Amino acid sequence: MADGLRHKVVLDESEMPTQWYNIVPDLPSPPPPALHPGTLQPAGPDDFAPLFPMELILQEVSTERYIDIPEDVQDVYKLWRPSPLYRAHRLEKALGTPARIYYKYEGVSPAGSHKPNTAVPQVYYNAKAGVRKLTTETGAGQWGTALAFACAQYGLECEVWQVGASFDQKPYRRTMIETFGGTVHRSPSELTASGRAQLAERPDHPGSLGIAISEAVEVAAQSDDVKYALGSVLNHVLLHQTIIGEEALLQFAKLDETPDVIVGCTGGGSNFGGLTFPFLREKMAGRMSPTIRAVEPASCPSLTKGVYAYDFGDTAGLTPLMKMHTLGHGFVPDPIHAGGLRYHGMSPLLSHIYELGLIEAMSVPQTECFAAAVQFARTEGIVPAPEPTHALAACIREALACKESGEEKVILTALCGHGHLDLASYEAYLSGRMVDENPDDARFTEALADLPKVDA
Ligand SMILES: *Cc1c(COP(=O)(O)O)cnc(C)c1O
Repeated sequence: MADGLRHKVVLDESEMPTQWYNIVPDLPSPPPPALHPGTLQPAGPDDFAPLFPMELILQEVSTERYIDIPEDVQDVYKLWRPSPLYRAHRLEKALGTPARIYYKYEGVSPAGSHKPNTAVPQVYYNAKAGVRKLTTETGAGQWGTALAFACAQYGLECEVWQVGASFDQKPYRRTMIETFGGTVHRSPSELTASGRAQLAERPDHPGSLGIAISEAVEVAAQSDDVKYALGSVLNHVLLHQTIIGEEALLQFAKLDETPDVIVGCTGGGSNFGGLTFPFLREKMAGRMSPTIRAVEPASCPSLTKGVYAYDFGDTAGLTPLMKMHTLGHGFVPDPIHAGGLRYHGMSPLLSHIYELGLIEAMSVPQTECFAAAVQFARTEGIVPAPEPTHALAACIREALACKESGEEKVILTALCGHGHLDLASYEAYLSGRMVDENPDDARFTEALADLPKVDA
């Protein structure tokens, strides 16, 4: 035990941060505004009012550095927060690396991922505004589960469109959502005009997050007491997730360590932004200087292969236009197992931060990710969700580079969820059936031809 074999740093409930961190006022320039799709003028609060309650819209455009977490939300958070920070001693040993690897584990939540960190406040503000029902999309099923749990806390109905490919692959997600009181539809569905249009073209459509968003938005826009909730991408979602990074900072302070490299997976950017923004604040203030790296799937590489342009958040073109890294709203990614990373766009805020050069990005193919996941499971004892296996693969690459160079870097990664309901993907990997799709660049160019024309 000589070199301090401390596996876990836990905070007391009383040490849980009581404010979320908004990075916008600390950036050298503000992110470009969302645009109304008809007028192409900056979208105002009223443009979002059919979909979101005003308190969330105000958070979306806020320039306040810190926003208080309502006490009621703190109470629900304490069902699983603060979440543990682990040192991966056993993985380090297996890799033979001098690097020190830490992971912040969000799999301890009711949904098994970081998603309840924003589901709970989103439902809280909707309940306060008198909303009766929330609609949403879900990819891997994590977000639908989180929202159903949060709706159960505040007595709201919850209707979920689940991406067809994962609806078929992961039937237990549906059961879990139903257990929390939600209703689940396979997307594309016959229940909406946008779903019917997709099914007419392709009856066995595997779906995509973009299509499922169109369906949920379409239904929410039709009734006053029904609103929509998004599990990633938007500023208020990343804001709520910063509790992860604020806790991790306190945990690192207890260890008297600072990270040299932080890696996280990016689908829409929320777990990554949530962990890294508080560290980026410290970096911009000159108090530490970690390299911060986003990791995306080779099959859906919006940061590394997409363009930075105004695009729709959904496939049917119902949302305001957002300036972001995008593969084109019509892009349908291959049905890789990391369902939560199959999104054509990227958080506009994170895209802006990437353009400012404050973070790096890379992509990894899924078989390398699952090799990393299996090594992680056999050493650390946690079966990761398919999404954070991307971060683990990047973390292992970094740790092996340290082995070559002899550098004792401190690496921090977001282990944003467990994979207990994703075992079908492990089965595909372990049986040798998993393949890397390696889409060629022509696939990406094709969907980009349909970007909306905006002079900005
Ligand atoms: C939803 C999800 C993701 C992708 O979303 P981000 O907003 O990029 O975090 C990644 N990992 C897990 C476990 C998820 O549930």
